Amino acid sequence: MAPRTKIQKLCEGNRVKRPVEKKALKLLSKYSSLSQAIARSEHPLQPYEQRWIDARGVTSDEQFAYLKQQGLAFDPVDLGHDDAVQGCAAYAKQCQKSHVTDLFLSSFASGRLDYRSGLAPFAMMQTMPDHRFTQSSAPQFCAICSGSDICRGVDATDWNADRHCAGSLGLLKTPEVIQFYLAQHLQLARQAPTAEDFRIFNAILDTLRSLEAQTKPTQVHRSLKKIDGFKATVHQCRVLLEALGIASILQTEKHKGYLTHYTNPGLAPSKSHKSDWAYPVDFWTGADGVNKEALAFWFGAYPEIRL
Ligand SMILES: [Zn+2]
Repeated sequence: MAPRTKIQKLCEGNRVKRPVEKKALKLLSKYSSLSQAIARSEHPLQPYEQRWIDARGVTSDEQFAYLKQQGLAFDPVDLGHDDAVQGCAAYAKQCQKSHVTDLFLSSFASGRLDYRSGLAPFAMMQTMPDHRFTQSSAPQFCAICSGSDICRGVDATDWNADRHCAGSLGLLKTPEVIQFYLAQHLQLARQAPTAEDFRIFNAILDTLRSLEAQTKPTQVHRSLKKIDGFKATVHQCRVLLEALGIASILQTEKHKGYLTHYTNPGLAPSKSHKSDWAYPVDFWTGADGVNKEALAFWFGAYPEIRL
């Protein structure tokens, strides 16, 4: 059992109330901790700060209180690296694979992207080593996971916006984020995937298997969006492909997902200096197809899914 720490306060302090109100989700989708920090700053705003505020808006105290009451927003806390790693391990131990995959599948027909968001962090925990903060050449970041020794004023509301509005991990894939995702996942009630969920996910897999060999991840959305009932923006589609990569379903011979290989997410190679896609799907093309072993590991228990 992980000790009761600020992590638990962060993760479990706001019991999620269901169903999530549409109004709350819309507010959450516009939330940005950077906007909040800029708005609170006491110096006159720089032009780029003003442009950011103008583009993103600012969540009012009243709106933030409403999001908190909905279980969607969190007060900032300080988090230590070692506590976060311990939290990851404790929460991952409580997670059941079938709970993760049932919810992942149930996200398709329901459009509940938070249901989808447990797969990638749980997949990362298949190989993330249990470790203490290990100094790297950049002293504030861990050499193993790129987490910070201590994160001050962590605002998990941003991460929750990624869970609910994108459906998987955002840019940060460090222990403090993973433990938050897993803790939130554990609060979700089990859902049984429907025939429609299976149909949509099978269609996604069939599409991924039948792409032209040179197709890059950036080009997949144009094919996936043709699937009847699969509603995803370009960003939501990207995040889904990244999650399938992290789960080793979309990987390459050389660049493996986290089911079998842990790669420090902060030091993972990129296909090009312009690419900011997550590892390893960044390197994937249609020629790599769908990894049958990983698909069987995650979804082999569902006879409805074509492996
Ligand atoms: Zn670390």
